[in-house]
Amino acid sequence: MSVLRISGLRAEIGGHEILRGVDLEVRSGEVHALMGPNGSGKSTLAHVIMGRGDYDVTGGSVTLDGEELLGLPTWQRAARGLFLAMQYPVELPGVRVGDLLQAARRTAGPAAAAPGLGERITAEAARLGVRDEFLSRGVNVEFSGGEKKRAETLQLAVLEPAFAILDEIDSGLDVDALADVARRIEAMTTETGLGVVAITHYARLLRELRADRVHIFAGGRVVASGGPELAAGLERAGYDGLAAELGVELPAPVAPPEPADPFAEPVGF
Ligand code: ADP
Ligand code: MG
Repeated sequence: MSVLRISGLRAEIGGHEILRGVDLEVRSGEVHALMGPNGSGKSTLAHVIMGRGDYDVTGGSVTLDGEELLGLPTWQRAARGLFLAMQYPVELPGVRVGDLLQAARRTAGPAAAAPGLGERITAEAARLGVRDEFLSRGVNVEFSGGEKKRAETLQLAVLEPAFAILDEIDSGLDVDALADVARRIEAMTTETGLGVVAITHYARLLRELRADRVHIFAGGRVVASGGPELAAGLERAGYDGLAAELGVELPAPVAPPEPADPFAEPVGF
């Protein structure tokens, strides 16, 4: 049993605060949903947990089984069992999907690279409904939206992390692909005890993943938490309606100020 604990996490970019005291605790096998308006800082949270360099962490902690992760480079966080499926996966021309999976898996040590790794990868691809030919293509290069999300899920299945953050894994997926991806991830939560933070706008994914907890995220922090009924309430009433029903105030958006318009009429002119 592992625990990923985020407490009082604050982060800013260019001096503008985006994360304003995030608290979240996820245990092995649990699925937590994070739902919130666009621009509320959900992707920033995912990137800060994973250690992306251009955000300044100004407070709080992120621990995995009690060990502080803030300050560790991204690859060490990954080695300790964290995984991020990105909202906008990056293209890696010249790096084949199969080679990336082999190389990433080998960093976990000789046992992980034991004979049979190739077969394991092929079997995972088949389980996710992707053809072998997919493994020899450049990572995300000219992939459709759905293929990118299947590629992220394939990496997740092969790497077997302790915790996965899924940043809109359902965006760009058609109904069948959503079912394939969600079913594979849901199986991991029971087979390997994967703990999940699923950022999404849709209750559909949460039904497929059988979410345990739903958190409403606004203004850079969690403003309400509950069971799956929160996601249903959101679909019915929207953010403002749900907030009113729950009696919570939605904080103002965290968007940084627009840069000054150099062509604006000078004030008082
Ligand atoms: P969400 O995923 O909830 O839609 P984001 O975390 O992507 O929200 O963004 C929250 C706010 O922070 C947005 O106003 C966005 O423009 C800003 N932001 C996030 N990352 C950066 C960045 N690297 N540079 C500048 N602004 C950023
Ligand atoms: Mg986002």
